[in-house]
Amino acid sequence: MRVIVGGIIQESNTFSKATSTIEDFRRNYYRVDEQLLAVQTEINELSGFNKAANEQGAELLGTVYTQTVSSGKISRASLNELKNQLYERVQRYLPCDGLLFAMHGAWVAEDEDDASGEILSELREMVGPVTPIVISLDSHANLTKKMVRSVTELLVTGHSRILISWRQDTKRLTCYSILCEGNAIRLSVL
Ligand SMILES: [Zn+2]
Repeated sequence: MRVIVGGIIQESNTFSKATSTIEDFRRNYYRVDEQLLAVQTEINELSGFNKAANEQGAELLGTVYTQTVSSGKISRASLNELKNQLYERVQRYLPCDGLLFAMHGAWVAEDEDDASGEILSELREMVGPVTPIVISLDSHANLTKKMVRSVTELLVTGHSRILISWRQDTKRLTCYSILCEGNAIRLSVL
């Protein structure tokens, strides 16, 4: 199983007059290609993706995984640059069995309130209607119709150690409690 993996994480303060750029990402945490598959210096979603892939025997194909601190909206030029970096790599690996991305879900561009939705809808267009796209989000994500329509499954995690999963095919929302080391028990299905 070949899974394209990546992530773009930032929380935007829309009251801030400061504009964030791709340099903020590069200064904080910016990994590309096979760097995504190495042991990560931080405990982040990428570490979890790698652990799960090893357990399942899945091959991960690294694109771009980057995160930075909370800041102002990202400039259009930097958003386009990040998208180019990501899309060029996604194209390289298509066709694949699925895409797995950490998106956080609270990212705003200077001219687009739904920067995550913009990326996910473009990825959906790129891979076609069938290939699964699965994303993880933080518990305060600003969920939009564009995001939900673009993905196959979304996972919401948070400090409460509760994980909520929503699937496009069954329209099913499932709530899990994460016990430890990624072992989860299902609490309820809505
Ligand atoms: Zn957050």
